[in-house]
Amino acid sequence: MASSKIVIAFDGHSSCGKSTVAKQLAKELGYIYIDTGAMYRSVTLFAIRNGLAGDGKVDEQGLIKRLDEIKIEFRNNPVTGENETYLNGENVEDEIRQLPVANHVSPVATIREVRKAMVKLQQEMGKNKGIVMDGRDIGTVVFPNAELKIYMTARPEVRAQRRYDELIGKGNQVDFDDILKNVLERDRIDSSREVSPLKQADDALLLDNSDITREEQLNWVLEIVKERLG
Ligand code: C5P
Repeated sequence: MASSKIVIAFDGHSSCGKSTVAKQLAKELGYIYIDTGAMYRSVTLFAIRNGLAGDGKVDEQGLIKRLDEIKIEFRNNPVTGENETYLNGENVEDEIRQLPVANHVSPVATIREVRKAMVKLQQEMGKNKGIVMDGRDIGTVVFPNAELKIYMTARPEVRAQRRYDELIGKGNQVDFDDILKNVLERDRIDSSREVSPLKQADDALLLDNSDITREEQLNWVLEIVKERLG
């Protein structure tokens, strides 16, 4: 389908299915998919493990000093065909999705130095285009010239239910209200932070998927991609 490769940016609220559609799209196009939330989550896991984050607090200066000890990579799992996140050589794909990380990741992602390091890595990963990236600041900061930008959202209860089903499905013991609280709190911090706040880029298309199926969503996005690719 693709003639010349483009950059596709998905931004939006927490748990609205950005990674699901971004992954599907990357597969359809033969593009690389990068989950930038996994990168901020990995930094957060490093902070928790090293006593630099816990009880809702983050030792910003302590973490900044140790940023160069953090190596984040994505490696393909040949069984599932999906990329998995590695922190200093260890597969942390499951651990970074759990609530202790979710509860500290937004404060970690407000730290200017952390963002600078992650954005640099992300720009490097996308320099040859042919990439679908999801996050909060992809269309505004990481790739302001992305050829296609989609800003996603859904009602908070719908998003919390999806995240709840996903975690329960993986055998985790979780409480719906805790998840809803986390989703709302992350939205609040992400949208109000000083550095690269979550916002819809002027040239981003809005997708509210509260009341549509995954299939309808993918078809909608594919139609737009076809148009953009000519
Ligand atoms: O996308 P995901 O929900 O996994 O992201 C986890 C957190 O990482 C977000 O709540 C946000 O605080 C932060 N994030 C960010 N910028 C990005 C991606 C994620 O600040 N580009």
